[in-house]
Amino acid sequence: MKECIFCKIIKKEIPSSIIYEDGEILAFNDINPQAPVHVIIIPKRHIERVSELKAEDSELASKLILAGNEIAGKKGLIDPGYRLVINCNKDAGQEVFHLHMHMFGGRKMGWPPG
Ligand code: AMP
Ligand code: ZN
Repeated sequence: MKECIFCKIIKKEIPSSIIYEDGEILAFNDINPQAPVHVIIIPKRHIERVSELKAEDSELASKLILAGNEIAGKKGLIDPGYRLVINCNKDAGQEVFHLHMHMFGGRKMGWPPG
């Protein structure tokens, strides 16, 4: 997937501000943050969108959420709160077609989302 910007981040071919990494997951600060804390959490395996997850990917899917929780905890966001978001395709505004979860925190957020 040589055209995928997040695969390039995984391979360290383009720089990013990495805050968590293990064998399957990478998390880095969003380049255009929409909140005081805005972290992108991705699987290292290239999956284009959340709708493509299969039953056999259940453990990977839960690891994304658990990584979001762990990062939120380290940043002191559990009590004030935080938001985990996965956009899928055009109506949701997905721009990067490598599955990713946003973790937002550090400010009061509106609901419903825009
Ligand atoms: P989405 O609209 O859900 O596809 O979100 C894509 C996100 O990736 C946006 O919030 C972008 O700011 C972010 N993004 C794009 N390129 C980079 C990059 N090189 N480093 C960090 N975040 C990025
Ligand atoms: Zn990719």
